[in-house]
Amino acid sequence: MSDGGAGEGGGTGGDGGGGDETAPSPTPITDADYDEWLDALAAGEGYALVCPDGHGSLPPRRRCPECGSDALSREPLDEIGRVETFSVVHVPSPRFADDAPYVTAVVDLGPVRATGVVRGVDPEGDAVEVGLSVAAGVEERETDGEPLVTFRPVDGE
Ligand SMILES: [Zn+2]
Repeated sequence: MSDGGAGEGGGTGGDGGGGDETAPSPTPITDADYDEWLDALAAGEGYALVCPDGHGSLPPRRRCPECGSDALSREPLDEIGRVETFSVVHVPSPRFADDAPYVTAVVDLGPVRATGVVRGVDPEGDAVEVGLSVAAGVEERETDGEPLVTFRPVDGE
């Protein structure tokens, strides 16, 4: 999502003459793509976009961030991922004001890594650790009810 990009729009206006449009972005960010991905993830059918070289990325990307290829195919995510890094957030951005403290984690889901909030754990405890097995899902952000990628620990091997 585009956290931090909230304040756009409204700046210009007036005479709509402007003939010098800047070049359109080759990869327009559409929330629809991301929403579709969230819906799939919520249904247990999360996927990554993988280029012919095997680089994984997530919607709404249209091109591989590594090599620029636009020949992206959808590869299913692993149902169970592993925490690669995590951090406890005590001072959140406004969009997460009512969620803090919480744990964010980068999780290896096979073809791609994803960032999300770890739920079902005590943020102040030590339940989250590198290598922890988690299942990815979609839940609501407490602050505003917006959908959010979440990870919950699973009973691993
Ligand atoms: Zn690539």
